[in-house]
Amino acid sequence: MKHLSLMKLSAFLDKELNLSEFPGDESVNGLQVEGKGSVSKIGVAVDACDYVFHKAAARGLDLLIVHHGLIWGGIRSVHGVMKKRIKTLLDADISLYACHLPLDWHPIYGNNSRLLKVLSIRRMGEFGEYHGKRIGYWGKLAGDLSLEQFAVRVESALTTRATVIGFGRKVRNIGIVSGGGWSAIYDAEKLGIDTLLVGEPSHSAFTLAEEMQVNLVFAGHYATETLGVRAVGDMLQRKFGLRTEFIDHPSGL
Ligand SMILES: [Zn+2]
Repeated sequence: MKHLSLMKLSAFLDKELNLSEFPGDESVNGLQVEGKGSVSKIGVAVDACDYVFHKAAARGLDLLIVHHGLIWGGIRSVHGVMKKRIKTLLDADISLYACHLPLDWHPIYGNNSRLLKVLSIRRMGEFGEYHGKRIGYWGKLAGDLSLEQFAVRVESALTTRATVIGFGRKVRNIGIVSGGGWSAIYDAEKLGIDTLLVGEPSHSAFTLAEEMQVNLVFAGHYATETLGVRAVGDMLQRKFGLRTEFIDHPSGL
Protein backbone atom coordinates (compact mmCIF):
# COMPACT_ATOMS: atom_id res chain seq x y z
CA MET A 1 0.00 0.00 0.00
CA LYS A 2 1.27 3.51 -0.87
CA HIS A 3 2.15 5.84 1.98
CA LEU A 4 2.86 9.54 2.11
CA SER A 5 3.98 11.74 4.97
CA LEU A 6 1.10 13.76 6.43
CA MET A 7 3.10 16.99 6.37
CA LYS A 8 4.10 16.54 2.73
CA LEU A 9 0.56 15.71 1.70
CA SER A 10 -0.86 18.62 3.65
CA ALA A 11 1.65 21.06 2.10
CA PHE A 12 0.84 19.68 -1.35
CA LEU A 13 -2.90 20.23 -0.77
CA ASP A 14 -2.37 23.78 0.55
CA LYS A 15 -0.72 24.67 -2.75
CA GLU A 16 -2.84 22.60 -5.11
CA LEU A 17 -6.07 23.99 -3.61
CA ASN A 18 -4.76 27.59 -3.60
CA LEU A 19 -5.54 28.19 0.07
CA SER A 20 -3.62 31.46 0.02
CA GLU A 21 -6.23 32.96 -2.34
CA PHE A 22 -8.72 33.14 0.54
CA PRO A 23 -7.05 34.79 3.55
CA GLY A 24 -10.45 36.11 4.70
CA ASP A 25 -12.18 32.74 4.94
CA GLU A 26 -13.58 32.19 8.41
CA SER A 27 -12.73 28.52 8.10
CA VAL A 28 -9.22 27.67 9.23
CA ASN A 29 -8.27 26.02 5.97
CA GLY A 30 -5.56 23.38 5.89
CA LEU A 31 -4.56 20.83 8.50
CA GLN A 32 -6.84 21.33 11.54
CA VAL A 33 -6.07 18.21 13.56
CA GLU A 34 -2.84 16.23 13.37
CA GLY A 35 -3.02 12.43 13.60
CA LYS A 36 -0.52 9.79 12.50
CA GLY A 37 2.49 10.98 10.53
CA SER A 38 2.02 8.64 7.60
CA VAL A 39 -1.06 8.49 5.37
CA SER A 40 -2.27 5.69 3.15
CA LYS A 41 -6.07 5.64 3.49
CA ILE A 42 -8.03 8.84 3.06
CA GLY A 43 -11.71 9.66 3.56
CA VAL A 44 -13.45 12.65 2.02
CA ALA A 45 -16.70 14.09 3.36
CA VAL A 46 -18.70 17.31 3.37
CA ASP A 47 -18.95 17.81 7.14
CA ALA A 48 -16.60 17.28 10.06
CA CYS A 49 -18.89 15.56 12.56
CA ASP A 50 -19.00 12.58 14.88
CA TYR A 51 -20.85 10.34 12.38
CA VAL A 52 -18.12 10.84 9.78
CA PHE A 53 -15.33 10.49 12.35
CA HIS A 54 -16.71 7.16 13.62
CA LYS A 55 -17.06 5.83 10.07
CA ALA A 56 -13.47 6.89 9.38
CA ALA A 57 -12.25 5.14 12.54
CA ALA A 58 -14.18 1.96 11.73
CA ARG A 59 -12.66 1.90 8.24
CA GLY A 60 -9.13 2.48 9.55
CA LEU A 61 -8.63 5.78 7.69
CA ASP A 62 -5.60 7.96 8.41
CA LEU A 63 -6.81 11.30 7.11
CA LEU A 64 -10.14 13.01 6.51
CA ILE A 65 -10.53 15.83 4.01
CA VAL A 66 -13.70 17.87 4.52
CA HIS A 67 -15.38 20.98 3.15
CA HIS A 68 -16.80 22.16 6.49
CA GLY A 69 -14.10 21.70 9.13
CA LEU A 70 -14.18 21.97 12.91
CA ILE A 71 -12.37 25.24 13.43
CA TRP A 72 -13.95 28.51 12.33
CA GLY A 73 -12.19 31.71 13.34
CA GLY A 74 -10.10 29.97 16.03
CA ILE A 75 -10.50 27.76 19.06
CA ARG A 76 -12.39 29.40 21.93
CA SER A 77 -12.96 26.31 24.02
CA VAL A 78 -12.98 22.52 23.73
CA HIS A 79 -16.01 21.13 25.53
CA GLY A 80 -19.35 19.46 24.77
CA VAL A 81 -19.74 18.50 21.11
CA MET A 82 -16.35 19.94 20.23
CA LYS A 83 -14.60 17.84 22.89
CA LYS A 84 -16.37 14.71 21.69
CA ARG A 85 -15.48 15.33 18.09
CA ILE A 86 -11.82 16.08 18.71
CA LYS A 87 -11.50 13.13 21.11
CA THR A 88 -12.92 10.74 18.49
CA LEU A 89 -10.29 11.93 16.02
CA LEU A 90 -7.36 11.89 18.46
CA ASP A 91 -8.29 8.47 19.90
CA ALA A 92 -8.28 7.01 16.38
CA ASP A 93 -5.15 9.03 15.39
CA ILE A 94 -6.98 10.47 12.37
CA SER A 95 -5.93 13.80 10.87
CA LEU A 96 -8.43 16.38 9.68
CA TYR A 97 -7.86 18.69 6.73
CA ALA A 98 -10.46 21.34 5.86
CA CYS A 99 -10.94 23.32 2.68
CA HIS A 100 -13.91 25.67 2.59
CA LEU A 101 -14.16 28.65 0.18
CA PRO A 102 -11.16 27.57 -1.94
CA LEU A 103 -13.08 24.36 -2.60
CA ASP A 104 -16.22 26.22 -3.66
CA TRP A 105 -14.24 28.37 -6.10
CA HIS A 106 -11.39 26.15 -7.35
CA PRO A 107 -11.45 26.06 -11.19
CA ILE A 108 -10.57 22.33 -11.33
CA TYR A 109 -11.66 20.68 -8.09
CA GLY A 110 -14.20 23.23 -6.84
CA ASN A 111 -17.88 22.52 -6.17
CA ASN A 112 -19.06 25.21 -8.57
CA SER A 113 -16.86 24.23 -11.46
CA ARG A 114 -17.88 20.57 -10.98
CA LEU A 115 -21.54 21.54 -10.86
CA LEU A 116 -21.20 23.22 -14.26
CA LYS A 117 -19.66 20.06 -15.61
CA VAL A 118 -22.25 17.56 -14.35
CA LEU A 119 -25.07 19.84 -15.53
CA SER A 120 -23.53 20.32 -19.02
CA ILE A 121 -23.24 24.09 -18.67
CA ARG A 122 -20.47 25.82 -20.63
CA ARG A 123 -18.38 27.99 -18.31
CA MET A 124 -18.42 31.69 -19.19
CA GLY A 125 -16.96 33.41 -16.14
CA GLU A 126 -16.67 33.83 -12.38
CA PHE A 127 -19.42 35.57 -10.44
CA GLY A 128 -20.91 35.88 -6.97
CA GLU A 129 -18.60 37.84 -4.70
CA TYR A 130 -18.18 36.48 -1.19
CA HIS A 131 -15.57 37.69 1.32
CA GLY A 132 -13.94 39.78 -1.39
CA LYS A 133 -13.63 37.10 -4.06
CA ARG A 134 -15.96 35.67 -6.65
CA ILE A 135 -16.52 32.02 -5.73
CA GLY A 136 -19.24 31.05 -8.22
CA TYR A 137 -19.38 30.57 -11.97
CA TRP A 138 -21.92 31.36 -14.60
CA GLY A 139 -22.36 29.61 -17.88
CA LYS A 140 -24.63 28.77 -20.78
CA LEU A 141 -26.67 25.76 -21.76
CA ALA A 142 -26.43 24.54 -25.36
CA GLY A 143 -30.11 25.46 -25.85
CA ASP A 144 -33.06 26.77 -23.86
CA LEU A 145 -34.74 24.52 -21.31
CA SER A 146 -37.90 25.06 -19.36
CA LEU A 147 -37.32 25.47 -15.64
CA GLU A 148 -39.00 22.10 -15.07
CA GLN A 149 -36.65 20.38 -17.53
CA PHE A 150 -33.64 21.99 -15.90
CA ALA A 151 -34.85 20.95 -12.45
CA VAL A 152 -35.09 17.33 -13.61
CA ARG A 153 -31.50 17.52 -14.85
CA VAL A 154 -30.33 18.94 -11.50
CA GLU A 155 -32.20 16.37 -9.45
CA SER A 156 -30.88 13.39 -11.40
CA ALA A 157 -27.28 14.67 -11.60
CA LEU A 158 -27.08 15.45 -7.89
CA THR A 159 -29.48 12.86 -6.49
CA THR A 160 -31.40 15.58 -4.73
CA ARG A 161 -34.84 17.15 -4.45
CA ALA A 162 -34.68 20.73 -5.64
CA THR A 163 -36.91 23.58 -4.55
CA VAL A 164 -37.69 25.57 -7.68
CA ILE A 165 -39.22 29.02 -7.94
CA GLY A 166 -39.87 30.32 -11.43
CA PHE A 167 -40.86 33.64 -12.88
CA GLY A 168 -41.63 32.55 -16.42
CA ARG A 169 -38.17 32.82 -17.94
CA LYS A 170 -36.57 30.01 -19.95
CA VAL A 171 -33.31 28.61 -18.62
CA ARG A 172 -30.20 29.42 -20.69
CA ASN A 173 -27.74 31.54 -18.67
CA ILE A 174 -27.17 30.02 -15.26
CA GLY A 175 -25.27 31.27 -12.24
CA ILE A 176 -24.08 28.72 -9.70
CA VAL A 177 -22.97 29.17 -6.10
CA SER A 178 -22.85 26.09 -3.88
CA GLY A 179 -24.08 26.12 -0.27
CA GLY A 180 -25.85 29.20 1.03
CA GLY A 181 -24.95 31.46 -1.88
CA TRP A 182 -28.24 33.26 -2.58
CA SER A 183 -26.77 36.77 -2.17
CA ALA A 184 -25.13 36.22 -5.57
CA ILE A 185 -28.54 37.20 -6.96
CA TYR A 186 -27.38 40.83 -7.24
CA ASP A 187 -24.50 39.80 -9.51
CA ALA A 188 -26.84 37.49 -11.40
CA GLU A 189 -29.13 40.39 -12.23
CA LYS A 190 -26.21 42.54 -13.42
CA LEU A 191 -25.02 39.79 -15.76
CA GLY A 192 -28.47 39.10 -17.19
CA ILE A 193 -28.53 35.60 -15.72
CA ASP A 194 -31.99 34.04 -15.96
CA THR A 195 -31.53 31.24 -13.42
CA LEU A 196 -29.62 31.12 -10.14
CA LEU A 197 -28.74 27.72 -8.73
CA VAL A 198 -27.63 27.66 -5.10
CA GLY A 199 -27.69 25.12 -2.31
CA GLU A 200 -29.71 26.20 0.67
CA PRO A 201 -33.23 27.66 0.29
CA SER A 202 -33.59 31.25 1.44
CA HIS A 203 -36.80 33.11 2.10
CA SER A 204 -34.98 36.43 1.70
CA ALA A 205 -34.16 35.61 -1.91
CA PHE A 206 -37.80 35.26 -2.94
CA THR A 207 -38.99 38.85 -3.34
CA LEU A 208 -35.67 39.93 -4.83
CA ALA A 209 -35.88 37.15 -7.40
CA GLU A 210 -39.48 38.07 -8.11
CA GLU A 211 -38.58 41.69 -8.82
CA MET A 212 -35.40 40.84 -10.73
CA GLN A 213 -37.20 38.06 -12.66
CA VAL A 214 -34.49 35.52 -11.87
CA ASN A 215 -35.51 31.86 -11.52
CA LEU A 216 -34.29 30.18 -8.34
CA VAL A 217 -33.18 26.57 -8.01
CA PHE A 218 -32.28 25.49 -4.47
CA ALA A 219 -30.59 22.12 -4.93
CA GLY A 220 -29.56 21.55 -1.31
CA HIS A 221 -26.52 22.72 0.66
CA TYR A 222 -25.21 19.19 1.04
CA ALA A 223 -26.00 18.06 -2.51
CA THR A 224 -24.15 21.03 -4.04
CA GLU A 225 -21.03 20.43 -1.94
CA THR A 226 -20.13 16.76 -2.35
CA LEU A 227 -18.45 17.17 -5.74
CA GLY A 228 -15.43 19.18 -4.57
CA VAL A 229 -14.20 16.78 -1.88
CA ARG A 230 -14.80 13.86 -4.23
CA ALA A 231 -12.72 15.52 -6.92
CA VAL A 232 -9.88 16.04 -4.44
CA GLY A 233 -10.09 12.37 -3.41
CA ASP A 234 -9.97 11.23 -7.05
CA MET A 235 -6.96 13.46 -7.72
CA LEU A 236 -5.03 12.04 -4.72
CA GLN A 237 -5.81 8.51 -5.83
CA ARG A 238 -4.60 9.22 -9.39
CA LYS A 239 -1.55 11.23 -8.45
CA PHE A 240 -0.22 9.31 -5.44
CA GLY A 241 -2.01 5.95 -5.62
CA LEU A 242 -3.52 6.59 -2.17
CA ARG A 243 -6.77 4.81 -1.38
CA THR A 244 -9.58 7.31 -1.00
CA GLU A 245 -13.25 6.89 -0.21
CA PHE A 246 -16.26 9.17 0.13
CA ILE A 247 -18.17 9.11 3.41
CA ASP A 248 -21.74 10.09 2.61
CA HIS A 249 -23.78 11.75 5.35
CA PRO A 250 -26.57 13.72 3.66
CA SER A 251 -28.63 16.17 5.66
CA GLY A 252 -31.30 16.44 2.98
CA LEU A 253 -31.00 20.23 3.37
ZN1 LIG B 1 -21.15 24.91 2.72
